[in-house]
Amino acid sequence: MIAELISVGTEILLGNIVNTNANYLARKCAELGISNYYQVSVGDNEERLASVIKTALSRADLLILTGGLGPTKDDLTKEVTAKVLNKKLIEHSHTKERIIEYFTRKKGLEITENNWKQALIIEGSTVVDNHNGTAPGLIVKTEEGKIIILLPGPPNELQPMFDMDIFPYLNKLQPGVLYSEMIKICGIGESKAETMIQDLIDGQTNPTIAPYAKTGEVHLRITASASTMVEGKNLVKPVVEELEKRFSTHIYTNKEEENLEDVVVNLLVKHNLTISTAESCTGGLLTGRLVNVPGASAVLGEGFITYSNEAKEKYLNVSHETLETYGAVSRETAAEMARGACNNLKNKTSIAVTGLAGPGGGSEEKPVGTVYIACMVNGHVKVEKYQFKGNRQKIRELTVINGLNLLRTSIIEEFELNSN
Ligand code: ATP
Ligand code: MG
Repeated sequence: MIAELISVGTEILLGNIVNTNANYLARKCAELGISNYYQVSVGDNEERLASVIKTALSRADLLILTGGLGPTKDDLTKEVTAKVLNKKLIEHSHTKERIIEYFTRKKGLEITENNWKQALIIEGSTVVDNHNGTAPGLIVKTEEGKIIILLPGPPNELQPMFDMDIFPYLNKLQPGVLYSEMIKICGIGESKAETMIQDLIDGQTNPTIAPYAKTGEVHLRITASASTMVEGKNLVKPVVEELEKRFSTHIYTNKEEENLEDVVVNLLVKHNLTISTAESCTGGLLTGRLVNVPGASAVLGEGFITYSNEAKEKYLNVSHETLETYGAVSRETAAEMARGACNNLKNKTSIAVTGLAGPGGGSEEKPVGTVYIACMVNGHVKVEKYQFKGNRQKIRELTVINGLNLLRTSIIEEFELNSN
């Protein structure tokens, strides 16, 4: 099935609102396995809206229109759709009752004459109740068997309506099921990751692999279309196994809802470790990410934000000579920061970051984006040097992600690979 999304509203064309409805519906269509070839935005204008609907009917099987179902004069979607289809608008008593109910519940709001416009539906259409507003959704079938769905513009009305009624309706129309799995990778750049699986992507039909680049990470979604879930799972399995072989320990999870900090906190809990953080250029960002995880209190002991050299000496025992000789952004300083944060405590791990986030302060030897990250795990200190690109914010974010990843791999190396 091919869908076309039509967003109605002059506000969108003027840039007054962001078209989040199109984004939302596009994602839902992808989830449903419905192809989406065109997304159109059109203003509250009768002629242009009619022409957009006609064009969409000529090239798609399903039209989803959002916006313009309200009570005011500029809300034209229903009227224009009816006109294009040569259908009448008729009063829908159930919707009329719901409008009265809605206004009774919202004490103080008075029904105005134009509210009755929302009780009109296109003849022959299926009405979808709006539980968060007054304009119902409509599903209209054309003589040629195409489907037009009209949905209210406000996202808080559209989204629940779509999830509760439209999604299941469309799902039933689609033959078979879509089964997908996710693999999340860190420590390999987007282009390298793509190159590593280019042969798989080139030859793919079913399942398909879709890479998504995130800051410092690559997510791969593997999707199979099949007649049953079990068949889908079986189709996806060998592809996932091949990807696991290729990316091995760079894969940090295959759970959709899990992110890097969740994995790190789980590893710390699993190995009965606590952690101290020592941050220079990230200024607390990394510790904040760990605290995002519910249950972080079980593993996070303390965090040091040691931005200045003096603070690095005072709180982390970094030696004055090290700072003088190698500088604050150096392998040696990062290592001493990690040791200092651990403070010889048993079962303590640490992570330390020091780097140049810019825009100023770079040199030929240490350009902006030079970052050293050190982890102390099980008494061993590991330091890595990174050369990040981007603005200050990006460099700091990349530092956090790569720091968490270094921590993850260090814990695995110390406690999971060696003990086997
Ligand atoms: P209402 O009954 O509120 O008039 P409506 O169905 O007529 O709803 P519109 O008048 O087109 O919808 O838009 C109402 C509001 O919904 C907009 O002001 C905007 O806040 C939101 N909205 C509309 N279209 C979109 C869109 N494509 N993306 C995000 N928000 C939207
Ligand atoms: Mg409106």
